[in-house]
Amino acid sequence: MSKPDPVLQSEIRARVAEIRGPDHAPLGDSGRLSEIIVRNGRAYFFIAVSPTEAASWEAARLAAQTAAAEVPGVTSATVSLNAERTATPTSSKPPETPSPTSQFPALAEISHIVAVASGKGGVGKSTTACNIALALKGLGLRVGILDADIYGPSMPKLFGLRAKPTVVGERTLVPLDGYGVKVMSIGFVVDEAKALVWRGPMVMGAITQMLRDVAWGALDVLIVDMPPGTGDAQLTMAQSAHLSGAVIVSTPQDLALIDARKGVAMFQQVDVPILGIVENMSYFVCDECGKRHEIFSHGGAAKEAARLGVPLLGEIALDPIIRERSDAGLPIVVTEPDSESAAAYRSIAQQIWARLQAGDSGSRPPVR
Ligand code: ADP
Repeated sequence: MSKPDPVLQSEIRARVAEIRGPDHAPLGDSGRLSEIIVRNGRAYFFIAVSPTEAASWEAARLAAQTAAAEVPGVTSATVSLNAERTATPTSSKPPETPSPTSQFPALAEISHIVAVASGKGGVGKSTTACNIALALKGLGLRVGILDADIYGPSMPKLFGLRAKPTVVGERTLVPLDGYGVKVMSIGFVVDEAKALVWRGPMVMGAITQMLRDVAWGALDVLIVDMPPGTGDAQLTMAQSAHLSGAVIVSTPQDLALIDARKGVAMFQQVDVPILGIVENMSYFVCDECGKRHEIFSHGGAAKEAARLGVPLLGEIALDPIIRERSDAGLPIVVTEPDSESAAAYRSIAQQIWARLQAGDSGSRPPVR
């Protein structure tokens, strides 16, 4: 696994420090630069701006990204404008170097944040995340779910929630209640069609806001339904939420498994432990004959999990009831608790919780 690279970090900081923003002050003196994170040659950091300044800082963001990418040893750089922090630039103040966790005090009372991810869309990631969250709740835990799949937010539908979250204070959103789970989704606050055309920095800004401005309170587990894929938005999310672990959802087809492998590699790159793989739509049980049909070459996930040295947490059938119930906002774990599929989700949730408790994954450091 990769380790932080302090030499590269300080070289990047030195170069980026000289870039001037629209106020003509060098970035290094501005107090706007976040901690610089470098893993396996990939660099990430934020420039803090106020929401009204975001457009005027785009050129400086690009310049900082280019300068960071040109540092020998850096293979790629992702710099985003973080319009959520109140920028209080002064030329006399030393640069602030907040840790990603300290940027998100809203996450302070959450014991574990677990990402549910997939290498590509349509594999049932959101359905799995929803039912795992409910199964964890069924274990008596305090659970939240953050729908960070901003390109296709599905938690409003999956939980059957149509209300808008209330706002407390200046901008803190109160999560909605879905069968006892605290639910927050970008789908509650923006029109889906709008989110689809967002560019990278806006996507990251939205994710940052979802991490920062939600009144989660004390939770044992926050499940994060990640955007599908393994691009920079996913990597930034994985990095900035200080995840305890990740669950990868895959279908049995080879192609999806290749994507799943990319998902595993992405989390390993940022030192997030893989809690395991879930094989979704694994097999089909025929209503009429009651027989199990292996419609895709079933078992691929088991082999892949063994090859990668991560557990296969479970296999979920291609179950028409899962689809029906999901579409109706009646998750199967709650509405058909005696079904085989609900039992499979519960077993997965138990293993996740056991691994979190055993400390197989790093629990989150306390926020000071
Ligand atoms: P993703 O989040 O990966 O894009 P979704 O969770 O939105 O995928 O699922 C895609 C579609 O597949 C949805 O219509 C959902 O109801 C259906 N689905 C997911 N898992 C199953 C399953 N195990 N059996 C049957 N249908 C499923």
